[in-house]
Amino acid sequence: MIRISVLASSSRGNATVISGGGTHVLVDTGISALRIRKGLAECGLSVPALSGIFFTHEHQDHVCGLGVLSKKDTLNLYCSRYMAQDVRGMAPGALFTYLEPGQTLEVGSLKITPFCVSHDALDPLGYLFECEGTRLGYVTDTGIIVKPMPELLAGVQGLYLESNYDPDMLANSGRTPALISRISGRWGHLSNEQACEFVRQIAHPGLQHLILAHISPECNTPAKASRAMQATLSELGLSTQLHCAAMANRLPWIEIQ
Ligand SMILES: [Zn+2]
Ligand SMILES: [Zn+2]
Repeated sequence: MIRISVLASSSRGNATVISGGGTHVLVDTGISALRIRKGLAECGLSVPALSGIFFTHEHQDHVCGLGVLSKKDTLNLYCSRYMAQDVRGMAPGALFTYLEPGQTLEVGSLKITPFCVSHDALDPLGYLFECEGTRLGYVTDTGIIVKPMPELLAGVQGLYLESNYDPDMLANSGRTPALISRISGRWGHLSNEQACEFVRQIAHPGLQHLILAHISPECNTPAKASRAMQATLSELGLSTQLHCAAMANRLPWIEIQ
């Protein structure tokens, strides 16, 4: 079994706890250290209980709590080598492990395979988490679905998936044309429809839980993202439980068998 609790997620901040077989890891530290500690406590955990912190990439909405978090505890950080160069100064006492896409590593009871995503960051990563036959895909901050995501994540029982923007809301958001192009481009973010298209690619009856994440507060709504995905799940005949991660409230533990 793998358990996941999203402490927060939106374009403004992201942090997620993933547990399996007694091993606990955090993915990203893009909210305040105070909120991370509080969220971990609500999960019955603490920073020293974490075997590691895995990073998707160095953007502020994924790392901003790192500096304060690293002052009190010695952290085991896992990220791409390129990203480590950028954030090392934020956490001088931390221990870094560099990740290579496609190379699986074991941390306690969890098997973790990083993979490339398409985003304007320093070698950004998505993850496949595995524990005793249960598999959870973690896909965020990617402008397009790239190889090997469909192959690697086929058959997952759980999926954490960015559903960042609604194209009409983005077009009418008052953002500059350059920013709109960046968000909707191949190095940006997934729209609701792109998220649905990816789920169509990897859909199977064993997909138990789907968590929509990184929902933009200005260019999307949880209702729009959920409606689009629920329609896709219904069209596919799946009874997958759909969840929406939020910025303000922790998403309580979800158990994936
Ligand atoms: Zn980003
Ligand atoms: Zn982000």
